Amino acid sequence: MTYVVTDACIKCKYMDCVEVCPVDCFYEGENMLVINPNECIDCGVCEPECPAEAILPDTENGLEQWLELNAQYSAEWPNITTKHETPADADEFKGVEGKFEKFFSPDPGQGD
Ligand code: SF4
Ligand code: SF4
Repeated sequence: MTYVVTDACIKCKYMDCVEVCPVDCFYEGENMLVINPNECIDCGVCEPECPAEAILPDTENGLEQWLELNAQYSAEWPNITTKHETPADADEFKGVEGKFEKFFSPDPGQGD
């Protein structure tokens, strides 16, 4: 079992989650983060920290797509362990539907 980041993170990227993860298993894309499912110890402390409610346990139904995306991109994107500046327009994209189709970027972020 692991926790996964869903498309609710896209273009919000508040990064409160990375500060609390005890095993530093967040990875940064251009406009979202993902969790490495093999490194996550399932502690759950990141879930309530996310203002966008983007982090969910993979025991919830319908998360297969996001689990796959987290596994794939955590292998490609750089590790991130410290909170960087939140994008200025993050609040405008909070709760917006269909962000994956409209805005997902496979490009890596800067990492630490
Ligand atoms: S706190 Fe939530 S929205 Fe922010 S980077 Fe982490 S998962 Fe994404
Ligand atoms: S559940 Fe725990 S180990 Fe997994 S990503 Fe969240 S804080 Fe890190």
